Amino acid sequence: MRLDKFICKCTDLTITEVSLIIAEGKIQVNGEKITEPHHQVHASNQVVFDQKVLTPRPFRYYMIHKPADTICSNKDEHYPAVFSLTNIPDTDQLHLVGRLDADTTGLLIATDDGHWSFNIMQPAGKVPKTYQVQLHRPITKEAIEQLEKGVMLQGEKQPTAPAQIEMINEKQVLLTITEGKFHQVKRMFFAVKNKVTALHRCKIGGLSLDIPEGAWREINKKEVEQ
Ligand code: URA
Repeated sequence: MRLDKFICKCTDLTITEVSLIIAEGKIQVNGEKITEPHHQVHASNQVVFDQKVLTPRPFRYYMIHKPADTICSNKDEHYPAVFSLTNIPDTDQLHLVGRLDADTTGLLIATDDGHWSFNIMQPAGKVPKTYQVQLHRPITKEAIEQLEKGVMLQGEKQPTAPAQIEMINEKQVLLTITEGKFHQVKRMFFAVKNKVTALHRCKIGGLSLDIPEGAWREINKKEVEQ
């Protein structure tokens, strides 16, 4: 990890403050003064500031129930960023695990643990994500069969991995997929000549959404391990 990122993880200092103390030569790594913010530090390195050995704070994990008309980045002027609706501290140090479209509601996970989120999102990890899907037209038996087998999405070279479908009623299904391609669910139903009119993510792996819209909570250690 970069030295400046490492110090941010260990302290309450902002990245600007960290850059300054590094430039001022106030940081030692394994007894040597380091003034380069990009310097790579490893778990075995001893980083000292103000005569104190810095140790990273534990990783943080949160569940957020995303409302509609919010966005997962900070760059849209039309909708508020989902983080801005929460009072989770230091959200600039967190990332979202698998984004949702502005009009999609439901389960979002935020963390600063890059390894953990990578394992959830990479297709080879096969972590199932379940969506409640509202459709424009009744779903047909053929469409279910196609989705269960895998469908070709526009612009992709490989078909989607087999999905699981559970009918709620003829225009509402639970869809479980293990991938996370851009607009995947909407594109999957487009591929079988239907249209998603509302989308809600209710589950990622063993973690089910269990808080009201707009709320957030910490994900506990047992849930993280699951
Ligand atoms: N698939 C979509 O099409 N949209 C989402 O927000 C999530 C999955």
